[in-house]
Amino acid sequence: MATMKLAAIAVALLLPLVAGVASADEFDFFYLVQQWPGSFCDTQKGCCFPDTGKPAPEFGIHGLWPNYAKCRPAEPELVDDVEMVVDGVPAIGRHHRRQKCWPEYCNDGNQLNPWEIKDLVAELDSHWPTLSCKSGRSMEFWSYEWKKHGTCSGMDQHGYFAAALELKKRHSLAAILADAGIVPSDEESYFLSSIRDAIADATGAVPNLECNRDAFGETQLFQVYQCVDRAGKKLVDCQLPMQGMCRDRAKLPVF
Ligand code: 5GP
Repeated sequence: MATMKLAAIAVALLLPLVAGVASADEFDFFYLVQQWPGSFCDTQKGCCFPDTGKPAPEFGIHGLWPNYAKCRPAEPELVDDVEMVVDGVPAIGRHHRRQKCWPEYCNDGNQLNPWEIKDLVAELDSHWPTLSCKSGRSMEFWSYEWKKHGTCSGMDQHGYFAAALELKKRHSLAAILADAGIVPSDEESYFLSSIRDAIADATGAVPNLECNRDAFGETQLFQVYQCVDRAGKKLVDCQLPMQGMCRDRAKLPVF
């Protein structure tokens, strides 16, 4: 009897790990990630406009991501659906220890319900448009971001999307850069330090920057990461270094 009780307790404790459910309140800050559409679209892969039409030449939201201040060892994960061969013998169900720098997929049962955010859809369409060619429906992008990141935010569905919009609308990154003379151009390139300083001066918080390469291999500004407090309200300085494929200069291609 006691053994059965112990077994039941062990199952109850292990179930959330096996199901991939992590505690939603375990993170230190958010990244509000915004992408420059020109840099998403001019890569070798290209892009597609959403069903709502070509987005404005403005940074668009990619996501609001809970993040840890310090990476931590991940729970040992049971890789039982991948067959590996070790010394000629199939090895199934081996334990792997990995680093985890942010929580993700905290509740796969919590799917985005479009009704919950119906009053935000018009604003989301303009500030959080998809550019992926997988689907022109931005709702699919929002659903993915909710499942992967939003379920770890400690917010409900409406609160999560409203918080991201609120933060995004507080500052126009394109206008901040234009005021500093950093305008979209297919010829010009800009110092990353000027881009970072312009955003830090205008928003009061130092961002991180990520670059990618255009179809000709030229470095361009791809995404701006703004750090936000755990409440999802206040911008704070980004403390974690990020290489993000940037060199000292980057382009900001016309969109
Ligand atoms: P994440 O970077 O959040 O892990 O993944 C983003 C996912 O959303 C990818 O599967 C990507 O195909 C999809 N997606 C849909 N629209 C967009 C978009 O406009 N930008 C980016 N970066 N990903 C998008």
